Amino acid sequence: MTREIRLRYAPSPTGHLHIGGARTALFNYLYARRLGGKFIVRIEDTDQTRNVENAAESQMENLKWLGVEWDEGDDIGGPYGPYRCMDRLDIYHQYMNQLLEEGKAYYCYATKDELDTEREEQIARGETPRIDEKHRHATPEQKEAFEKEGRKPSVHFIVPEDRSYTVHDLIRGEVTFETKEMGGDFVICRPDGIPTYNFAVVIDDYLMKISHVVRGEEHLSNTPRQLMIYEAFGWEVPEFAHLALILNQDGKKMSKRDESIIQFIEQYREMGYLPEAIVNFLVLLGWSPGGEQEIFTLSELEKLFSFDRVNKSPAVFDSTKMNWMNNHYLKSRPVDEIMEMCIPPLKEADFLEAELTPERKEWVKQLVALYQEQMSYCAQIVPLSALFFLEEVAYEEDAKAVLKEPQVKEVLTSFRQHLNASAEYTVEAISAALKATQKETGCKGKALFMPVRVAITGQAHGRDLGQTIFLIGQEKVAKRLEQVIKSL
Ligand code: GLU
Repeated sequence: MTREIRLRYAPSPTGHLHIGGARTALFNYLYARRLGGKFIVRIEDTDQTRNVENAAESQMENLKWLGVEWDEGDDIGGPYGPYRCMDRLDIYHQYMNQLLEEGKAYYCYATKDELDTEREEQIARGETPRIDEKHRHATPEQKEAFEKEGRKPSVHFIVPEDRSYTVHDLIRGEVTFETKEMGGDFVICRPDGIPTYNFAVVIDDYLMKISHVVRGEEHLSNTPRQLMIYEAFGWEVPEFAHLALILNQDGKKMSKRDESIIQFIEQYREMGYLPEAIVNFLVLLGWSPGGEQEIFTLSELEKLFSFDRVNKSPAVFDSTKMNWMNNHYLKSRPVDEIMEMCIPPLKEADFLEAELTPERKEWVKQLVALYQEQMSYCAQIVPLSALFFLEEVAYEEDAKAVLKEPQVKEVLTSFRQHLNASAEYTVEAISAALKATQKETGCKGKALFMPVRVAITGQAHGRDLGQTIFLIGQEKVAKRLEQVIKSL
């Protein structure tokens, strides 16, 4: 019988949606869609010391924003729920009791301190740490004595001796682990009755009929332990695919504290990246379609994605490429949409008032249109357009050099005069004033435009000059020209 295709993303709610997590979710989602299967989001919250309030909700919200939607999950339910580990404790206990009854697991009464001390001693003796297995053989009397002392047992799984377990991985091929190197009988349930990840994940993947387990490489070494649990129950094992690490630009493993990379989807969203660009960038972190094409929509990817084109070696996170990708998508969007994304950072910078009149909005739209081609992300509108908002402009070094040229005073005086003489303040009138200045002074090209640009914007380079002067506004332009002319 062929298996139904069912994949899952199983985040631990320890924080916002991270780049690595988003990529894992995306690969699962794409493969499920490609094969016409189901995609499930399950919350793995058994490590309560690391849980962060609302992290699961925030992760799900950000996934939806990326366009990654699921068929079953903690928020929408489904036929195999609940989809949150802490709501499944009864289920885990039932299966754990089965292992205890069959002699495949046992109660261990060693306290955490005892286990830690033993571990330290083993390390000091130069041995590979191995969990204390003597409780495996504790007599009923010994157990009773421990209970009387008030000790609460954990449950340990009996690791078969001298065996090897091979993970058949869709990306890495066969990876074999020897049980003698695996540190002994491992904990499947803590004294507080909460199962460990390695146990819960197997029960959940089995009961939710998961056909493919796709997750980060850091879980590869957990997989042999999970295989032992599948074996103990006599269950069919899913397919596995472990995704290689994401490295930073220095080639180092990206850590959550690494400041060289913006790591959370939430942050990209706030900075004005588009979800399509992030998805496109993320999918290329380890997958390549084989060919020159680099721009893919989500629906194209849903038809193309496969694990034979996922790389075994780590992917490097290249922020420049991310910015290039986002710029590509930003440019193709209607300016109204980009304007809406630029307004919050402009308000945040106190450049815009809380309520915008229709005229003011029209002005913002023209401002955004001026920079849309150039922006990597929408928050860049703030530094790019500061000269439109500030009363005083700061003159950059190369701009100051321009103002030292001999023709500057004549050009600026003439331009001011022609501008003042125009009946209205429009892009056409500004352009006519520039032409009249050229005629009067005999200066043209750079000799004409540079002094005007520098005097009014403080910068030697920028966007379309006429439109820039128009959007800065008559009053500010007059003031800046006046100040510069006076200083010459
Ligand atoms: N909860 C795990 C994590 O957030 C995922 C484990 C798995 O996919 O099996 O890393």
